[in-house]
Amino acid sequence: MIDPFGRRITYLRVSVTDRCDLRCVYCMAEDMTFLPKAEVLTLEELDRLGAAFIRLGVRKLRLTGGEPLVRRDVMRLFTSLGARLGNGLDELTLTTNGTQLARYAAPLSEVGVRRINVSLDTLDAGKFAAITRWGRIGQVLEGLAAARSAGLAVKINTVALKGVNEDEFERLVEWCGQEGFDLCLIETMPMGEISADRVDQYLPLSLVRARLKRRFTLAETDYRTGGPARYYNVAETGRRIGFITPMTHNFCESCNRVRLTCTGTLFMCLGQEDSADLRRPLRSSADDAALEAAIREAITRKPKGHDFVIDRRHSRPAVSRHMSVTGG
Ligand code: SAM
Ligand code: SF4
Repeated sequence: MIDPFGRRITYLRVSVTDRCDLRCVYCMAEDMTFLPKAEVLTLEELDRLGAAFIRLGVRKLRLTGGEPLVRRDVMRLFTSLGARLGNGLDELTLTTNGTQLARYAAPLSEVGVRRINVSLDTLDAGKFAAITRWGRIGQVLEGLAAARSAGLAVKINTVALKGVNEDEFERLVEWCGQEGFDLCLIETMPMGEISADRVDQYLPLSLVRARLKRRFTLAETDYRTGGPARYYNVAETGRRIGFITPMTHNFCESCNRVRLTCTGTLFMCLGQEDSADLRRPLRSSADDAALEAAIREAITRKPKGHDFVIDRRHSRPAVSRHMSVTGG
C-alpha cells in the first residue's frame, strides 16, 4: 500500500480497548466515559482485520489502547497474531503502562513478542500516583523486572511535563542505563478534553535536549524504528535516547503507519479527524474483498501531515478524540 505522497504503509497500530486502569492527567479526564462493550470489535474480528492488513503489506503490528493488557483474554489475540510472525508479519509488539506486565511478560515472549514500550513518566512514587491519578509505581517496576527476566527489550516512554517531571530526566537517563532500557521522551499532544490545561503542561523537548547535553554526551544516530523519534546514543550509559517532538518538528514525511480503533475505525493520521469505517465491511461479509477494498480506499486519503497547534487563548484540543481512542 502506497499513499498519495509515496509513503509505503507497513505499520499498523491497533487500539484493542479504550479502557484503562489508570487516568494519566495528560491523556484522560478522571470521569472518562468509555465505549459500550457492544461497539467494540471481538478479538476474532481484530485478528481478521490484522490478517487483512498483513496481506496488504503491513509488516509490523503494535497493540495499544487504552491499556491493552486490561482487555479480557487479550493473550488470545497476541497468540493468533503471533502465529503470523515470519508469515508476512515481521514484528508484533505492544505499548503498555506496565501495571499488568508481571503476569503477562513471559506469555508475551512465548508468542513471539520481542520488544515492548512501557510508559513511565517518573521514578517518584508520589508523583507517579499524582500523574496517573491513582497508580502504584511498584506494580510497574515489578512488571519491568518480569519483562527483563522474560528477555523482552524495553523502551521507556516518558511524556515531558512542565513543572512535573522536568527535574527528573537526568535521573531517568541514568536509571535506564543501569536497567538496560532505551528511553524516549515525548512532547504532550493536544488530544481530547482533559481537565488540566495543555499550555501549562507543554514542555518543548529542544530545551530538554539542550539541558541533557550539558550532562551527557549525546551523539546523533540514524537509528530508526520506523517511528517519529530522533535517536541519540548516550556515551555515558551506552543506551539510546529518543525525542518525539510533534509540536516542534514535523515528522510526517516519513510516516509509514495507520491506526485502528477498537471499534474498527481507521485513522490515517493521529493528528487529523478523517477516518474510514472498517467495521461495516468486516461484518457485512465473511469474504474479505469488501474489507480490503475499504482499506485500500482509506490509504488514498492519508493526509500529508498533522496540524497540531496549541490554541493558546482557549487551550482547546486540536483533535477532539483522546489518545486512548486511537492509541498512542
Ligand atoms: N496505556 C498504554 C500506555 O500508557 O503506554 C498505551 C496507550 S497510551 C495512550 C500510549 C502513549 O501515549 C503513552 O506513552 C502515553 O504516555 C502517551 N500519551 C497519552 N496521551 C498523550 C498526549 N496527550 N500527548 C502525548 N503523549 C500522550
Ligand atoms: Fe491509560 Fe496509557 Fe492513557 Fe495513561 S497514557 S491513561 S496508562 S491509556
